[in-house]
Amino acid sequence: MRVQVAIIGSGPAGLLLGQLLTNAGIDNVILDRVGKDYILGRVRAGVLEDGTVRLLDEAGASARLHAEGLQHGGFSLAFDGRNHRIDLAGMTGKKVTVYGQTEVTRDLMQERERSGAKTIYEADNVNVHDFGSTSPYTTYEHGGKTRRIDCDFIAGCDGFHGVSRRSVPESAISTYERAYPFGWLGVLAEVPPVANELIYANHARGFALCSMRSMTRSRYYVQCPLDDKVEAWSDERFWDELRRRLPLENAEAVTPGPSFEKSIAPLRSFVAEPMRFGGLFLAGDAAHIVPPTGAKGLNLAASDVHYLFEGLHEYYADRSMAGLDAYSQRALQRVWKAVRFSWSMTMMMHRFPDTGAFGQKIQEAELDYLVHSRAAATALAENYVGLPF
Ligand SMILES: Cc1cc2nc3c(=O)[nH]c(=O)nc-3n(C[C@H](O)[C@H](O)[C@H](O)COP(=O)(O)OP(=O)(O)OC[C@H]3O[C@@H](n4cnc5c(N)ncnc54)[C@H](O)[C@@H]3O)c2cc1C
Repeated sequence: MRVQVAIIGSGPAGLLLGQLLTNAGIDNVILDRVGKDYILGRVRAGVLEDGTVRLLDEAGASARLHAEGLQHGGFSLAFDGRNHRIDLAGMTGKKVTVYGQTEVTRDLMQERERSGAKTIYEADNVNVHDFGSTSPYTTYEHGGKTRRIDCDFIAGCDGFHGVSRRSVPESAISTYERAYPFGWLGVLAEVPPVANELIYANHARGFALCSMRSMTRSRYYVQCPLDDKVEAWSDERFWDELRRRLPLENAEAVTPGPSFEKSIAPLRSFVAEPMRFGGLFLAGDAAHIVPPTGAKGLNLAASDVHYLFEGLHEYYADRSMAGLDAYSQRALQRVWKAVRFSWSMTMMMHRFPDTGAFGQKIQEAELDYLVHSRAAATALAENYVGLPF
């Protein structure tokens, strides 16, 4: 098989890139090592920036998002037993859209099927070859046979554990990493959310986040030790712990119910540089990871795709490499700002084992400054709704 662009990974980055390319008449194939149902079963991000929604519009995959997504013009920072609202819309003129990553993925998959573009699920042992040359190709195993796809370019959209980044010689790549000494225990339940907007709570017992997927489905998280086991967290224990970390007015409004997804995720900041190696381009989690505190992971995947699609489009329209040559630098400029923001939100909202009395006072001063300074709150809001791309 021969295509113009071979995409590794059918997550949001791969699907979005695939749809933009297909709509522009650029032939592509997506390879994923797992099946469609497995991908749709992964519960992850849920807050979309304007720019991400705009790209989904451009991809033609946003009708349901506009019908069912929730527009949020603010969120709460809870500490000292009180809520302090950050007025996103008032400070930036922008809102965010609450719509689950699973639904974004489902919409993009449906649009891809409708447009007849090819996806190969359950492709084993995917490998990328000769991306330093002008004739890169990928191989994979399917139905007991090894197959080959020749292409002009390879887009590595295969997440943090994918094969694309790992195929790059160590001497050609630099990585920057920070692992955080705790995880997030997340619960999804068919219960109404505790409030109309998200609540990020800093509490002596640890961080908590009240999020949602709809007005009948809630997503909650509590900070937990990294070595905690999900089995140690009954639903009752989870609801009790969540309530303890919220201001009284919110704690009383929590509607408990049976969870239908419960998992512990580690928190990490990670960036690989550059994001281009000849004919291989990394996008999304394949190149960088952020802790979910700033709601940036999925949105960064979208901005990478924007820059990569522009470069590919320019190449096929004008035979110009300018956009592709600039891809890594343009994407990384935005990536590092989101990495900084996600790190700063994580530092401000969590209790660290080694904070100490001085660190604790600094955290309290930062929160107090934030909610009493319009300038500081505006800077937070500007980053939360997403820097332009
Ligand atoms: C548990 C968890 C919770 C998260 N929660 C949030 C959140 O609340 N807010 C937020 O903003 N972000 C969150 N994120 C981050 C967000 O989900 C990611 O940033 C986003 O999924 C990135 O999209 P992607 O397409 O780059 O990568 P992915 O979604 O990881 O997709 C990569 C795809 O590549 C495929 N793949 C991997 N290896 C191979 C291979 N060798 N061959 C072929 N295919 C391969 C995978 O099966 C997958 O389908 C969370 C992530 C995780 C893991």
